[in-house]
Amino acid sequence: MSIMNIAIDGPSSAGKSTIAKRIAKRLNLTYVDTGAMYRALGLKAIRLGISPEDGGSVSPMLENTNVCFKNVDGEQRILLDGEDVSELIRTEEVSNAASVISTHACVRERLLELQREIARNTSTVMDGRDIGTVVLPDATYKFFVTASAEVRARRRYLEYEQKGILDGRSFEQVLAEIKARDHRDMTREFAPLRPAEDCVMIDTSDMDIDTAVNALLEAID
Ligand code: C5P
Repeated sequence: MSIMNIAIDGPSSAGKSTIAKRIAKRLNLTYVDTGAMYRALGLKAIRLGISPEDGGSVSPMLENTNVCFKNVDGEQRILLDGEDVSELIRTEEVSNAASVISTHACVRERLLELQREIARNTSTVMDGRDIGTVVLPDATYKFFVTASAEVRARRRYLEYEQKGILDGRSFEQVLAEIKARDHRDMTREFAPLRPAEDCVMIDTSDMDIDTAVNALLEAID
């Protein structure tokens, strides 16, 4: 069977991962959450007391770090040096560390290899920031899923509230964090967030998940 890869890029909280998981299930493909890989490296840096900004310390850290996915009961789990950190990487502290650590060329090169290796052997729905532009420029389908910063901040605020991890932050603070992360992702030197020239753009600002999933499925045949 030939390999098919679907690239889904876009900014934080645009609904990418929910959409990507649904598409993967529907088409029987493997979902690959590349953000989880950056998050795992961010978590490791925090644990070691390494500043994610400090490329000189991050680079040697990579040499004895293993990041991989494991399928447990049909669900992708992320392993950091053999430890399942799938839940631990979802905090705001790790989100920020991931966003900063992902700016280093050494980090991106390392994860790029792993991501390409997965897609070489497996049909995937891969979500991230640079999948259609850098990781899999020959992906079978490419999507850029976005939404306004206000809509994304509202979704994130509600999610944190439901999970009880808002930690007293106001909506304005969550919005400012989203904008800061967008800015960092879009202006970094290596593999910045931008739509691939040949992608299909999906703006989910006024869409629920079902509508967004259907919009992608319509473009895939
Ligand atoms: O998608 P998620 O929010 O989990 O990604 C965490 C961080 O990892 C992002 O803020 C982004 O800076 C970085 N990232 C990246 N390239 C990817 C996926 C994520 O730079 N392909």
